[in-house]
Amino acid sequence: MKRNGVIIALALSVMAQNAMAKTLNVVASFSILGDIVEQVGGDHVNVNTLVGPDGDPHTFEPSPKDSAMLSKADVVVVNGLGLEGWLDRMVKASGFHGTLVVASDGIKTHTLEEDGKTVTDPHAWNNMANGARYAQNIQAALEKADPEDAADLKTSGSRYIAQLQQLDGWAKTQFSAIPQAKRKVLTSHDAFGYFSRAYGVTFLAPQGLSSESEPSAAQIAQMIKQIKADGVKVWFMENQLDPRLVRQIASATGAQPGGELYPEALSAPGGVADTYEKAMRHNIETIANSMK
Ligand SMILES: [Zn+2]
Repeated sequence: MKRNGVIIALALSVMAQNAMAKTLNVVASFSILGDIVEQVGGDHVNVNTLVGPDGDPHTFEPSPKDSAMLSKADVVVVNGLGLEGWLDRMVKASGFHGTLVVASDGIKTHTLEEDGKTVTDPHAWNNMANGARYAQNIQAALEKADPEDAADLKTSGSRYIAQLQQLDGWAKTQFSAIPQAKRKVLTSHDAFGYFSRAYGVTFLAPQGLSSESEPSAAQIAQMIKQIKADGVKVWFMENQLDPRLVRQIASATGAQPGGELYPEALSAPGGVADTYEKAMRHNIETIANSMK
């Protein structure tokens, strides 16, 4: 009788665990997405990130360890829009059979002309309104993969989305208080196209949409001319890139250093930009302060 009691208790506890919802194994392609998944998913997700803090998502080279991590994931979250050129091969090679979520789904994109080709700008998260859309897409995907926790995910997702929308409004007021002629800065690569359109700031950058591209001597000379003509006074480092090229160009124009921006990689945990929200707030404040 006692023995039966133990068995029944065991069976009940197994049933309870099954009904209680699982912790989803999620792999995010880069650190900003990893943080959005954590904010929305809370205790219901275990997040691993392929391109970590201070890492360049354009030029990433996956290791066999990354591939093994992908093969065990329930959900993989990527930006899409051509950011992760290394991903398709990796997904195929890893034998991943879970759900692939494209966080940028439904975003209004824009294109740029680069070396005679029309290229979609992948850096959509640098507009906070788009970031809120990313969070919505991620929330919907997590709810689908873990329906038992849908109510919890809805609560944490909505709270987080509201915070991003509030920050978006705050960013607009920060920049609208600054005269348009002063809202011009120099950075390393074209990561701020969506930021530029959302908040009315002009960015010049010697490297194109992907940090892989290298400008010619003639393009650099042209850029120096343009910086002087446009009266660009400040330049910024990007945490995930070597600043030598932009520093060299800046020094030829007299532009002053404005600090470091986090356009596509978080800082290490404990740093000034270790969440998406903190990175955006830091970028907005640093850029706005440089114009005052
Ligand atoms: Zn980039």
